[in-house]
Amino acid sequence: MANLSVKNLHVSIEENEILKGLDLEIKGGEIHAIMGPNGTGKSTLAYSLMGHPAYDIVDGQVLFDGEDLLEMGPDERSRAGLFLAFQYPVSIPGVTVANFLRTAVNARRRAENPDDKGISILEFRKMLKEKMDLLKMDHAFAGRYLNEGFSGGEKKRAEILQMATLQPKIAILDETDSGLDIDALRIVSDGVNALAGPEMGVLVITHYQRLLNYIKPDYVHIMFDGRIVESGGPELALKLEEEGYDWIREKYEAVAA
Ligand code: ADP
Ligand code: MG
Repeated sequence: MANLSVKNLHVSIEENEILKGLDLEIKGGEIHAIMGPNGTGKSTLAYSLMGHPAYDIVDGQVLFDGEDLLEMGPDERSRAGLFLAFQYPVSIPGVTVANFLRTAVNARRRAENPDDKGISILEFRKMLKEKMDLLKMDHAFAGRYLNEGFSGGEKKRAEILQMATLQPKIAILDETDSGLDIDALRIVSDGVNALAGPEMGVLVITHYQRLLNYIKPDYVHIMFDGRIVESGGPELALKLEEEGYDWIREKYEAVAA
């Protein structure tokens, strides 16, 4: 069980304030969705939580299990149990998916204990197979070179497998990717649904309502102009599907201006 608590978060990029006092609470095991028009700062929130250096935290507080997340480096955040899916993962020629994941697992183990000898190949293979079975993935995928010639769907598959292997307490997925075709959509949502539970909370960030036909969030938040302006249940996503974002603009544009 983990809690993520974001209070009054203000974030700037190159002197432009993008997040303007954002509040969000995620309790262990909950599935939250943030939706909002393009340019409202959804990815900025994801990058800020990840600790990307381009994003200046101007004000506010983020607690992860009571610890000050903003004081931690990106690797510490990951070790503490926060996972952020890479929206545009790099390809690493000559490194297989399995090698990449084993390196990630070992890096984490060594960070916790410098004397750690690392997971044995046998033990790792067993673990990876279990994860791939859970995610209904073909075992051959582990032998592919990471992201080399990967389709959008395969990139998502690598991302979800990484999430399964690292077993985060809270996973944040920024799905603005315009390449989210139906295949990729299924992979992300099946993966989230297989892994989410009391041990893992999820924050899905998406512009598209259709993702939420597959992932059933407990809470839906609408973001506009750097803040969360509405919060509710899944019915809020349905309202957006039917009515679009115009009513949000009308209701909050005046406030924002
Ligand atoms: P969303 O994910 O909701 O579409 P973003 O967080 O990507 O929104 O962007 C929010 C705002 O920040 C946009 O106005 C965008 O132009 C601006 N922005 C994003 N990244 C940068 C950057 N690296 N430098 C300057 N402005 C940026
Ligand atoms: Mg975005």
